[in-house]
Amino acid sequence: MTEKTEIKSMTLEELERFFEERGEKRFRAGQTYQWIHEKLADSFDDMTNLSRELRQKLKEDCSLLTLYIADKKISKIDGTRKYLFRLPDGHVIESVLMKYRHGNSVCISSQVGCRMGCRFCASTLDGLERNLRPSEMLDQVYRIQKDLGERISHVVVMGAGEPLDNYDNLVRFIRLLSHERGLSISQRNVTVSTCGIVPGIEKLSEEGLSVTLALSLHAPSDEVRKTLMPVANRYALKDVLRACDTYFQKTGRRLTFEYSLVKGVNDNLTEAKALTNLLKGKGAHVNLIPVNPIRERDYVQSDDRDIRAFVRYLEEHGINGTVRREMGRDIGGACGQLRKSFMEEREGWKHTH
Ligand code: SAH
Repeated sequence: MTEKTEIKSMTLEELERFFEERGEKRFRAGQTYQWIHEKLADSFDDMTNLSRELRQKLKEDCSLLTLYIADKKISKIDGTRKYLFRLPDGHVIESVLMKYRHGNSVCISSQVGCRMGCRFCASTLDGLERNLRPSEMLDQVYRIQKDLGERISHVVVMGAGEPLDNYDNLVRFIRLLSHERGLSISQRNVTVSTCGIVPGIEKLSEEGLSVTLALSLHAPSDEVRKTLMPVANRYALKDVLRACDTYFQKTGRRLTFEYSLVKGVNDNLTEAKALTNLLKGKGAHVNLIPVNPIRERDYVQSDDRDIRAFVRYLEEHGINGTVRREMGRDIGGACGQLRKSFMEEREGWKHTH
C-alpha cells in the first residue's frame, strides 16, 4: 500500500501542483487549502463546494491530519486552558491557551520530547521521541481555536521541544500559519523560543520571516549556563549573542531573553550585574521566570525578595525586565506536567495489568 499524501503540511503552491498533476483544476486546490487552513475542516466531507467525486478521490489519496483532544483543563482563575493532544501514532503532546488583554495566545510543542537536556525542564527527561510535522504544529492551534470558538491572535513556540532542532518543519509551519488564505496570523505575533543553537539562529535570520526570537539565556556566563543547559557546552555565549545580533540586524525584530530564576544558582546581584553588561544597548526585553520546580530535580524557586531585587537592578540599569505571571495556577504545575502525569498513569496501568 502506498502511503497517503499528508496534505495539511503542503503549501498552496505544492497543493496546486498536486491537483494539476491529477488533472484537477488549479482553483480547486485553493478551495481545498482554504477548507483546511481557514475554515479548519475536520474531514473531506466538510468541503461542500467540492464535487462528491473529488472529495472521494481526496479521501483515497490523501490524509487530513487531525489531533484528538485526550484531556483538557480550564483554569477558573484566568481562563487558561491546557490541552493534551493525541497524535495519530499514539504519542501525546501538550499545548496551552492563555487569554491576554491583547488577544488569545497559544503555546505549542514543536517536538515529542526533547534532546537538549536542560536541567530544570520536564520535557527533556525522557529524551526526544520524534519531530512534529508542520501539520501537527498547526493543528494544535486549529483545534484550540475551534474548541474555544474565538480567534487565536498569537502563537508562541515555547512548549516541549527545541524548534530549531526541527528547523524545516518549523519554517514551513510559520509560513502556513501566517498565510493569507489560512488563519493569517501575523508573523509579528509569532514567537520562537530557542535554547541557543547558533547555526539555526543564523539560518533563521535569512528566511525573510518577521517572527520574534526569544533566547533562553538563564545565565550571564558560560560557566553558570553550562550547569543548567548542556547546549552551552556546544555554543559559547558570545557566539550565541552574536547570532542574536545578526538576527536583529537582518529582521529588525528585537529579541526577548528568557531567564528562569533558580535559587542560589543564577539569582544574585552579581548575575544581575553581569546580565546588565551583556545586554546593555540591545534594547532587549528580559522575561524573568521563577523556575517551576520539577520532582526529578532539586532546583528551587528564588525567594520573592531576591526576584524583586534582581528586577530592580535590571531596571535601574536600563534593562527592561518583567517577571512572568504564572497562569492557570489551579490547573497544575509546570509546563509539561499534564503530559507527564498522563504518561505516568499509562505506565502505571501497564505495570498493574
Ligand atoms: N527549547 C526552547 C523552547 C521550549 S522551553 C527553549 O529552550 O527556549 C520554553 C522556556 O521555558 C525556555 O526558556 C525554558 O528554558 C523554560 N523552562 C523550561 N522548563 C522550565 C521550568 N521548569 N521552570 C522555568 N522555566 C522553564
